[in-house]
Amino acid sequence: MATIDLRSLPQEELTAQLQSNGYPAFRAKQIREWLDRGVTDFDKMTNLPKDLRQKLAEIYTVPGVTILRKLVSAIDGTVKYLFQLDDGETVESVLMQYKHGWSQCLSTQVGCKMGCTFCATGMGGFIRNLSAAEMIGQIEAAQQDTGIRVSSIVLMGMGEPLDNYEQVVRFLRMLGEEGGVHIGMRHISLSTCGVVPGIYRLMEEQIPLTLSISLHAPNDEIRSRSMPINRRWPMKELLCACRDYIDATGRRISFEYAMIDGVNDSDAHAAELADRLHGMLCHVNLIPVNAVEGKAQRRSSRERIQSFMNVLEKKGINATVRRTLGADINASCGQLRRQQNQQEHTENSRPLEDRKEALP
Ligand code: SAH
Ligand code: SF4
Repeated sequence: MATIDLRSLPQEELTAQLQSNGYPAFRAKQIREWLDRGVTDFDKMTNLPKDLRQKLAEIYTVPGVTILRKLVSAIDGTVKYLFQLDDGETVESVLMQYKHGWSQCLSTQVGCKMGCTFCATGMGGFIRNLSAAEMIGQIEAAQQDTGIRVSSIVLMGMGEPLDNYEQVVRFLRMLGEEGGVHIGMRHISLSTCGVVPGIYRLMEEQIPLTLSISLHAPNDEIRSRSMPINRRWPMKELLCACRDYIDATGRRISFEYAMIDGVNDSDAHAAELADRLHGMLCHVNLIPVNAVEGKAQRRSSRERIQSFMNVLEKKGINATVRRTLGADINASCGQLRRQQNQQEHTENSRPLEDRKEALP
């Protein structure tokens, strides 16, 4: 049975694979051109010899990403997809329009192991990693559906990118290749909850992307309560890794800070945060927390967020408040998948006689 995922091979590996089977390098180029055009059926790659087509079909597969549900915001045109993968699992992705073009938020895993208490994805646990092909596939599916060209990517959908390190880096390298979905690294952001060894590994790769750190708290006490990873790598270690990353790459880090009413949003918290970030080449992104079904968290008021930001700025820390996009379609990740799963669960648990559509 065909098992090797051909779409997750960067051009160099694809060429090496084919050469090891006795085919010249230009065949790899031809195959990539077909894949980039969305042709995944080897038999339709008509400029390849028949025996190669047959061999490809025996050894390789190309993972599919199809649209299961799609919501479009009436307010700002934000598009939210629930994509289905070949094994029936689902992931979310969001397409947002900014002045500079369209940005897509991608998932890197089905679910997540990290269990952050404010996050809808974290509630459902971890299912599996996505392959590089399934990350590329999310971009291709959205581009084909809308006819627009995605010009920047944020790895801020479902999952922890640095917990799926190998496939994420493979994906990033493929984005940098000419042809197909080609997006420069300066238009990529990767967000992590703070997997410290992953930050060091990424630093070594010398990929000029923007690193975002989900901080969400000014101290270990608050952070450990909502982000279990903080017990493994507390803030001191995390911020030390961030300083090393900045020193090694010369690139500014972006800290994500979800403002949760009465939890992490006082002026004193802002002052504490500013002191910890003092002297760092960084930017703080304040995000009014999104409500998640079944959780009591509420977003801080506009005035509270403004006051928090003023304290940061007075202490020399650059900060902005993230614009809320797709408010009417619940655009933050993890929620659509949960709804879908709950709906399926309810449908499947209804007695058969209730399910008219299932009866002949
Ligand atoms: N796992 C990575 C990336 C995916 S989560 C990470 O945690 O960084 C993308 C971002 O959404 C993170 O900053 C995460 O903390 C944030 N987030 C999760 N749930 C949220 C919520 N309910 N409201 C606002 N931001 C949330
Ligand atoms: Fe995972 Fe990020 Fe959600 Fe935490 S915030 S559970 S790391 S997806």
